[in-house]
Amino acid sequence: MSKRNSQLSYPIFIGDIYADLDAHIFQMQPKVSKIYILVDENTHANCIPSLIRSTSTLAHAEILEIESGEDQKSIEICYHLWQTLAENNADRNTLLINLGGGVITDMGGFIASSFKRGIRFINIPTSLLAMVDAAVGGKTGIDLGVFKNHIGSFYNPEAVFVNPDFLETLAKDEFKSGMGEILKYSLIDRMSLWEEFKKSQIDNSNHWSKLIDSSLEIKTKIVKQDPKESGLRKILNFGHTYGHAFESLSLLEKPNASLSHGEAVALGIICELWHSVKKLNFPSGLFNEVKDYIFQNFRTYPIKVQDIDNIIDLMKKDKKNQDQQIAIVLLENIGEPKFDTFIDEQEIRDCLNFFINQ
Ligand code: NAD
Repeated sequence: MSKRNSQLSYPIFIGDIYADLDAHIFQMQPKVSKIYILVDENTHANCIPSLIRSTSTLAHAEILEIESGEDQKSIEICYHLWQTLAENNADRNTLLINLGGGVITDMGGFIASSFKRGIRFINIPTSLLAMVDAAVGGKTGIDLGVFKNHIGSFYNPEAVFVNPDFLETLAKDEFKSGMGEILKYSLIDRMSLWEEFKKSQIDNSNHWSKLIDSSLEIKTKIVKQDPKESGLRKILNFGHTYGHAFESLSLLEKPNASLSHGEAVALGIICELWHSVKKLNFPSGLFNEVKDYIFQNFRTYPIKVQDIDNIIDLMKKDKKNQDQQIAIVLLENIGEPKFDTFIDEQEIRDCLNFFINQ
């Protein structure tokens, strides 16, 4: 049996999910007419076999496969998938199951939210990042070229099923990506979680299960209070204003060796903590501790002085900005986030010069 988190309007099952998944699909009203499972080639090979073997409701499901990678989160791939659903006469009682990382859960959610004005969907996240973040919270979407997540909607899944066993086949680099988001949760929520996070070991699955649980507790607690990000939910963007710009820059410059989302967020956290020290007196000793941890445990990216204007341009296009001002989440201390703080261009230049000189 799995553990159930019921803070949101839909349940999240964590652990041995299969009996609960069968029961959930069986009980859905109106009855499901047809089931499609969206995968990429990696989740097709690594996750479909155990899912099909362990459930009875999915025996006749159709599989929709796309290639893996962030560049697939595009309107062209959506068009192809909408067309496939339409050609197969998918109706409004069709169920879409998203089995994959954040690319699959984000894009699958968006396809479900828009096909025939909305069909039901279930997320079964298979990457650490999707388990702790992307699969929960109702944000669905795709990229518009290099502009991350610019097209999308708020649309909730029927349920989310998190099985940490899927992580056994996840590449170590992809773990790092999930670690970036877990690091974010620990810094915005409480000191004890940061203390625990520092001790985390990639190959200890008990440890990871505990961190997945606490991350989901934090995310659901925040999303429940502010589902559409009009206030408090913005704190989940800590590290992301710089992080998204670094991610976009690396995609433009090194498409084959770009930073993963979580790696970029970890580097963004260094910059946003730098501003926190300057503007909100975040303790500088703690800043150095977190910065050193990130530089020792995450991949960095060779940002150059010539990139600064580009990064500022990318940050100006961030969805969270207001009246052309760059809005950012800063911390007064660990567990004390403040959203809607504004930074100007000169402050960004100073921060990036500091970052480049590390
Ligand atoms: P991803 O979906 O590209 O997955 C990373 C890689 O791991 C892919 O190659 C995938 O095929 C592979 N993979 C996934 N599960 C596997 C498994 N069990 N075994 C082997 N390989 C596996 O990327 P991601 O890091 O999971 O997610 C990143 C995306 O999530 C970004 O597009 C980001 O914008 C989005 N995101 C969304 C939210 C949200 O709230 N909606 C939050 C955070 C991130």
